[in-house]
Amino acid sequence: MKNNMTSKEIREQFFNFFKGKNHKIISSAPVIPFDDPTLLFTNAGMNQFKDVFLGKGTRDYTRAADTQKCIRVSGKHNDLEEVGYDTYHHTFFEMLGNWSFGDYYKEEAIIWAWELLTEIWELPKERLFATVFRTDDEAFEIWKNKTDINNSHILRFDEKDNFWEMGEVGPCGPSSEIHINLSDDYENVSLVNAGDAKCIELWNLVFIQYNRDKNGTLHELPMKHIDTGMGFERICAVLQNKSSNYDTDIFVPLLNAISELSGIKYELEEHQIAMRVIADHVRTLTFAIAEGAVPGNEGRSYVLRRILRRAARYGRKLGLNKPFLYKLVDAVVNKAAGGMGSVFPEIKENQNNIEKIIKSEEESFNVTLDRGILLFEELISKPNDKKIISGKDVFKLYDTFGFPVDLVEVMAREKGFKIDISKFNELMNEQKERARKSTKNKISSLNIVGLNLNNFEIDSTSITNFVGYEKLDTTTKIIGVKNEGAVSLLVFEETPFYVEAGGQISDTGSLFINNQECKIKDLSKVENKTIHVVENKLQTLFDIGMEVNLSVDKNRRWAIMRNHSATHILHAALRQIIGKHVKQAGSFVGPNRLRFDFTHFAKLSNEELFDIESLVNEKLMENLILYHHRNIPFEEAKKMGALMFFGDKYGDKVNVVQFGNFSMEFCGGTHVQNSSQIGLFKIISES
Ligand code: ATP
Ligand code: MG
Repeated sequence: MKNNMTSKEIREQFFNFFKGKNHKIISSAPVIPFDDPTLLFTNAGMNQFKDVFLGKGTRDYTRAADTQKCIRVSGKHNDLEEVGYDTYHHTFFEMLGNWSFGDYYKEEAIIWAWELLTEIWELPKERLFATVFRTDDEAFEIWKNKTDINNSHILRFDEKDNFWEMGEVGPCGPSSEIHINLSDDYENVSLVNAGDAKCIELWNLVFIQYNRDKNGTLHELPMKHIDTGMGFERICAVLQNKSSNYDTDIFVPLLNAISELSGIKYELEEHQIAMRVIADHVRTLTFAIAEGAVPGNEGRSYVLRRILRRAARYGRKLGLNKPFLYKLVDAVVNKAAGGMGSVFPEIKENQNNIEKIIKSEEESFNVTLDRGILLFEELISKPNDKKIISGKDVFKLYDTFGFPVDLVEVMAREKGFKIDISKFNELMNEQKERARKSTKNKISSLNIVGLNLNNFEIDSTSITNFVGYEKLDTTTKIIGVKNEGAVSLLVFEETPFYVEAGGQISDTGSLFINNQECKIKDLSKVENKTIHVVENKLQTLFDIGMEVNLSVDKNRRWAIMRNHSATHILHAALRQIIGKHVKQAGSFVGPNRLRFDFTHFAKLSNEELFDIESLVNEKLMENLILYHHRNIPFEEAKKMGALMFFGDKYGDKVNVVQFGNFSMEFCGGTHVQNSSQIGLFKIISES
């Protein structure tokens, strides 16, 4: 067998091999799929090619090879429980892949995989096994007739092992896997797919053939494709003659750094587990944060928080009581695998920020970590025949001490305890319900009092056309009406009035009918209709079909537009100066001021504030032109690279607001025509 290769050389050889087969070497897609709301983390190499497989997108090549950054800690592929306890599952790993988009198919995929493993790398053939999907005779025959694999090593398995799916929906297909048995019992076929650490899957060749829809039905794809994934850390372990991925040059420098910090060697089983978890989790945090994800309370942010807290708590087992994880980032960037930063420059460029974010998150958890551990020790020392930690106690650890439930579960498992998860979930739901109620009250108090759409005379198919991007006055007809004494609720065919959304507050203004003015007191949007609350001091009642003039208060609206456009420029400036992790978390845009909420791990310094303010003003003076892309398909907007917000729901058609080449965001608001119309930008306060 070829050995004495560094991981860096192994990666290179993989690329070179497929370059020789006319593949284009492409770079990894981001591991944080900010533009795919169905996925928290990229979990396989094929994620970035979903559109190609579905026939919705194309590339300018039909063969490609890459290494893809993957994270498997949520959803269909979740390996978190294994990590640290076994030697070959990571939360973050690299997946080496070769791809055919309607080009070559099963035969080449199988023959080339075999060639690389057995001819180039000279893996021992007697230890290799190939699995195929139980009905896939075609793949079986190719293995048998076109390679020199021992025929008794070709095995058939069912859906669980040989049918690959990215998630509940999407492209999928039968697969053929290559396993290696490194045990003494290496001819034993029953070890394949049996969860034995000595007999593991190395490479999965997927024959992408179907799309699974929401109902679970499989549809044949217009073209057949090849999607392969080989675990980089696993092949390195094999080629470096190690029985654990953690003994390769990818992990040893990290384990050494942990030993140095803790003064504990990688020897005792208990310490080894803790060190493996920490080494693994630091990689995940480094790569995720490099791309702008941050630990937080929801969605993928909460996953990262959980990962970090888990690692911090394992640190306690090594006597690491002060923030330490951030100190390991350097080993990931500059030492592990010959310096991961040389292959993935994003972690090198953002190293400083990554360290700061991890450190500040460690500091905030440290405050409660020790007290939580104490409470936990108390809980398990009480007499407890069933060895179950009550849902109430789990909830207390979660709610008061910030212990993610899976962490409590791990701690319980270590002591032979279980947790009452169903009671915990009940308490969680009650808490969510309380939170929901309190926000609901807020929303209804904002709404128009007494608005009852049941006896609102309106054609349910009619909609209000918003014309307020182009004009602030219009003549239109009433299409919905409800007279309520001193006020009338009116819906018009079209309106220039903007209704509060995305932080921008509602317009004010007037309605004119027969030269009499009625003030518009409030606005609300119900489905596609804008309801205007109109003061009614007229002798006659409003009725459907009447013609009126609508007029927005222009000075006020222009002031609002200046603030809204300034919000976008500020957002772009923050990302340029503070870092890509800066994400809008909310905003207020009114006529007198704007407020911009964003996530960051520290207070901004005076110097930073000054730099931000200067950059914004510089951009205002540059006279950046507004490009208002309206009603464009969501997919197209994504491709343009417009900033969007994870968790927000967008329709099929969206608006994108672009200022020069400096700022581009999904936005439904109203804006000035060019940045110089904003005037001067001044930061009054930061909190
Ligand atoms: P396993 O059964 O070992 O969990 P899998 O079937 O989940 O593997 P695939 O989804 O086919 O794996 O991924 C392709 C390859 O990526 C695998 O053959 C393996 O080498 C590697 N791989 C998968 N999951 C991990 C992980 N958590 N850590 C490291 N490598 C992995
Ligand atoms: Mg798996």
